Amino acid sequence: MYIIKVYCAKCQTLLYKYQKESLGFLIKCYKDRIQEDHTNGDLKCPKCGESFARDAMYHRKPANKIIRGKVYVRR
Ligand SMILES: [Zn+2]
Repeated sequence: MYIIKVYCAKCQTLLYKYQKESLGFLIKCYKDRIQEDHTNGDLKCPKCGESFARDAMYHRKPANKIIRGKVYVRR
């Protein structure tokens, strides 16, 4: 497992600390692996209001599907 930080691409606000299984492109965040949630839970950046994800299901687990280009990730 890797702990990554997910930031808003527009204003560099920290959105999540997330437990990711493998390194590589971030497509989704499983909700139960978000360790720290700095958002208001509405899938929008709390600072600039940009939508960065959509509700989705992967392998029958609720997840946030990242909208391409709306976030970036740091280790
Ligand atoms: Zn933002």
